[in-house]
This record gives sequence, C-alpha cells and structure tokens, in this order.
Amino acid sequence: MINRRQRFKIEAVKPPKQDPQERVHNFNEVSQPYTPELAMEQAQRCLYCDHAPCSKACPLHNDIPAALFLLGQGDFIGAALKFMETSNLPDVCGRICPQEKQCEGSCVVVPRNPAVCVGKLEAFVIDYVRKNYGYPMREKAAPTGMKVAVVGAGPAGLAVAEELAVRGHEVVVYDMWPYPGGLLLYGIPGFKLNKDIVFSKITYLEQMGIRFVCNYRVGKEHPVEDLFKQGFDLVFLGYGAVKGGEMKVPGEDTLQNVYQATEYLVRGNLSPELLPDVWRNLPDPKPHCTGVTIVIGGGDTAMDCVRTARRLNPGAKVYCVYRRSEVEMPGRYEERINAVEEGVQFEWLTAPVKFIGDDEGKVVAAECIRMRLGAPDAKGRRSPVPIEGSNFIIHCDTVALAIGYSPETAIPETTTNLKTTKWGSVIVESEETGLTTREDLYAAGDNVRGADLVVTAVAAARKAALAMHQKLMAMRDKKCRVLGEPGPSTVVLSTE
Ligand code: SF4
Repeated sequence: MINRRQRFKIEAVKPPKQDPQERVHNFNEVSQPYTPELAMEQAQRCLYCDHAPCSKACPLHNDIPAALFLLGQGDFIGAALKFMETSNLPDVCGRICPQEKQCEGSCVVVPRNPAVCVGKLEAFVIDYVRKNYGYPMREKAAPTGMKVAVVGAGPAGLAVAEELAVRGHEVVVYDMWPYPGGLLLYGIPGFKLNKDIVFSKITYLEQMGIRFVCNYRVGKEHPVEDLFKQGFDLVFLGYGAVKGGEMKVPGEDTLQNVYQATEYLVRGNLSPELLPDVWRNLPDPKPHCTGVTIVIGGGDTAMDCVRTARRLNPGAKVYCVYRRSEVEMPGRYEERINAVEEGVQFEWLTAPVKFIGDDEGKVVAAECIRMRLGAPDAKGRRSPVPIEGSNFIIHCDTVALAIGYSPETAIPETTTNLKTTKWGSVIVESEETGLTTREDLYAAGDNVRGADLVVTAVAAARKAALAMHQKLMAMRDKKCRVLGEPGPSTVVLSTE
C-alpha cells in the first residue's frame, strides 16, 4: 500500500464532461463517470484522516475515509455498502450535493492540493455496483403488523419508506405526480441526474415490499384523516416545497409563456408519458422556446432552467437575470460554470419590474431595472437596491420564474391540529424526531425546512423514521397487551 506522502502526490483528476457544444443538443448527464482504474487512483488521494472533517461536514455523516479506503483497494461493493450504511440516496447525493461547501469543502488536502473528489467517487461506486450487481438488498425484519402512510415520494418520503420497511413495517407511499420520485424525477433535470437512477431506486423499493400510489393528491381531495380511516397507524408528511415564489410584478401571472420553474422544468425535461394529463394532453407539451428566454433567479433551480432552455432550442438566446451580484448567488459554482460554458448570458444586479405582452397576451419583453448592493439583510447578504431611472427592456418570448419555493398549504389547511409557521412550513418538535403538533403525524424535508438540499431532507427523514419506528413498536406493544397476544419481544426487530 502506498504511503501518505505518495498519496499526497497523486494528481487530482476530475471525471470528463460532455463538450458544451455537443451537450446542448442532448439531455444526457454532463459529467461522465470515472473509469474503475481512475476511481481507485483518485480514492487513494484520501489521507484517511482519523478525525474525518469531511464526514463531520456531511449532513448524513457518511464514513468517507472508510469508503474511500475500500474503493482505493478495489473493493467496490464494500465501498458502496459503506456509503449505503448512512445514506438512502448516495448515487443522487454524489451528483447533486454542494460538496464544495460540505465534505470537499472540509478536506484537509486543501489548499496545497485540490480536494479529494468525494462526490464523483461516491456516484461512481454506487453506479458501478448497481450496474454490475444491482442494489444490494437490505435485510428486512419480521413483519410487525404496523402500517405507515408516507405522503410524498421525493427524497424524504423515499428515505422514510425504506427505513421503515427494513424494520418490518408495511409502507404505502402516496404521491401527486404520475410516477414516484418527486423532486428527483420532476425537479432535477436529466443532464444532472440520469432518470434511470430514480427508476432503479423505485424498483428496488418495490422489491422491498413498499407500495406506491400515484396521481393521489393528499389534502383537499384526499384528507390525511382518510389515511387513518384506511387503517394506517402513523402518517409521514414529506410533500416538499413545490409552490413557486411570486415576484408581484405586472404580467407574471397573466401573460402566456411566463412559467413557474416547476412547470418549465417538468415540461422541458420529461417525456410525455411521465407528465400529468393537464400537460401531456397539450398540442405541444414542451414549453415555448423559439427565440429569447429569460430566467429570473440565481439559485440551482435558475441554473436548471437556463440549461434546459439551451437544450430546448440550442439556437435561442438565454439570459439569467439576477438581482444581486455573482458573489451572492446561492447556487453551486459548478452549475454556474456549466451554464456559462453552454452559452448562457448573465445580467447581474438586474430585476424585472414588469413583463410586457402583445395583443394576443403573449410575453414579448421584460422591463428591468439595474440594482446596486445596499446594507446586509438578516442573513448577512447585501440587499439589492434599485437604481432610479436605470430601466431598460429585454425583448423575449419566454420567461421562467425561479425565485424560490415554499410548501403547499393544502395539507395543513385540511388537517386538524397540524400547526405550521407563517411561511407554511410544518412545525416539528425537533429534527431529531420529526414529530409534528399531532402525535400520529411526523414530517421532514422541505415541507419542514423550506426548500433545501436532498441530503438534508434524507438526513432528517432517517431520524424521523427511527422515532416513528419506536412509536410504532410502543403502539404495537400496547395493542398486544390489550388483545392478550404475544408482544414484539417474540419477533426479531432491527433497532438501528
Ligand atoms: Fe480523505 Fe479529505 Fe476526508 Fe481527510 S478530509 S478523510 S483526506 S476526504
């Protein structure tokens, strides 16, 4: 085995990317995989730190040095299993986590060398094992007879479903979209996350016995109480945050071809069979994309929209309009670079004041105003201040609004005693349990935290699943005592 000094000298190599000129003509993943040999070599750059700051910086506390040690030795299955010990979606997180702010941002080889490419190595090894052997099935505990309904088949819902199913509980997942996956399928474009990964995960969960019920909107149509009437012992709420933010400027909700980011991304990225009827049955399900598209916003969703726009019409012009400067942009640097490489033009320190339509009600321009940075806001980011008289026009035929998401309020509005914040986020006693203001309802993910990362949703969901498992076993114990039947001590239970 090579020593620490030799490991420190291995040159950092990132996996190749599709050429920008080519990739705007397809929706395939931009980042290409490592070869097994290169992955092993790159894993050997890790110094296997005892104190592992990378693991501490990971919301899931993945045992990164142990996984990279196994990968460096060519033990791909061992490395994959190590990542899967603490993560339900390691192949997803390896692709879309902001590693530069988490594991890689804490890597000790920096600044003398570039950080170990933890994310790309994690994605590589899970892909390798999935393609060559299939996801390793987890051992399931004996059936407990307890039933859980999970609302939402996104990252939090999938993680809770898996964690409860391995502990022997019957799990049914309800989702409003035509196919399970939530944000992973309907939010993140295929050029960042190959949809086959999501399909494989759903198949794996179905093989574990989890049932998915799609096109089922819990809330006004199907109140939460109906789930209890069907016999579920507990309900988990993981419906995310899909309500698009409003700019409150004229034209944003009246003109044609002005889209909220969710609609733009779903219609722009997915094949018709995955779309809800309302969009699948349109003469052309794809969003408008003939000439100039403007995307408003500066986060990862805005980058997803501008890059989708380039692919929908590589000959069209695409602008990203953001009200602060590049330094304040909240999205990943890597995504911004990808957008620049693909020819997206940025208008920093700019905000629309109105959208202008033609006689047919179609958007034809955005009137914008230049901004300057003023005093820092509550989060320490400098606030944008309009520069009077700096208005100008950008002619366009399509606009996508990517200015943030908040949770839908239909479920709290129709569920007795379920309390939320004034922003609509479900109140939980702590992220350690996910217990809401009702004893029989748990929640985690974006509907608790507001729009956040996949990895933080999975981390909170795993904690909620453990708390739910303990509650379910206590409920079962009580039921057994009442019925005079043998209690849970007669079955083998996972208590992880
Ligand atoms: Fe390896 Fe960097 Fe983590 Fe140390 S901090 S264990 S070098 S990835």
